Amino acid sequence: MLVASELRGELARIRPARACCRRAELVGLLQSAGADGGVRTLDHATARIAVQLAASIGVAATAPRASATGSHVPGRHHLKVALEGELPSSWELVTTKACDRRAFLRGLLLSAGSVSGGPGGPHVEFVLRDRRSAHKLQRLLQASDVRGSRMQRREREVVYLKGQEEIAGLLRLVGANRALLDFETSRVSREVRNRLNRLLNAEEANLARTVRAADRQLQAIGRLEAGGELDLLAEGLREAAAQRRRQPDADLDTLATSLGISRSAMNHRLRRLVELAADVAGARGARADRS
Ligand SMILES: [Zn+2]
Repeated sequence: MLVASELRGELARIRPARACCRRAELVGLLQSAGADGGVRTLDHATARIAVQLAASIGVAATAPRASATGSHVPGRHHLKVALEGELPSSWELVTTKACDRRAFLRGLLLSAGSVSGGPGGPHVEFVLRDRRSAHKLQRLLQASDVRGSRMQRREREVVYLKGQEEIAGLLRLVGANRALLDFETSRVSREVRNRLNRLLNAEEANLARTVRAADRQLQAIGRLEAGGELDLLAEGLREAAAQRRRQPDADLDTLATSLGISRSAMNHRLRRLVELAADVAGARGARADRS
């Protein structure tokens, strides 16, 4: 299961060792839609990271300030961190090295990403400012073999990931190892659960077949007895009938073992009893028609 708050927490705890990666992550944080030269987020941890990353590469940043405008969630305010002085370079420059691509994506996931693990399956999306950014993100993901699809929603460009493979790929890429482990574990346990259900269903179907067959046999035996035919049958068939009546719920193997005969012999005898009962019923019907 993919839990947004846990993933955020994990991403927030990753501190890149290299300055190039810190810079790339900050540039990723700056890409959130609606930000103008600063980082705009609903999340306190993300705002704190922006301040720390900026400080670590010598860019001055204001403390996170609440801005009431633009929040779609009642009671929640966007936090804004404005950067002063020289801003980090744009994302073309940070996406050349693999380490920076990953750091950039981490920043972007924190600022523009949303994650849900609801009943409709896991879903990850990035909400971006414009089509150009969306195309660039798609290419960036593609470079790491992760497929992102694009759509428009209320004047915004959205790049979203569909399917377990793609989302696992992204989690691996941004270094969210804990989330990746949880994600894969829940996938495996879901698969095991599904397989178990299929087995149980098959088992139930088997059981239902056994019960229906036993029911048919017991009715046939009852008819043969009522017409006096049962006592006239060969010993083997009479034994089979008696054993079925003693163990009305038993399956074929159990009955065969009780009589010390093979499964197929038992099956043959029970089938014969059902056929004989049908013959007798048919003959009686024919007599009734003539009279
Ligand atoms: Zn780097």
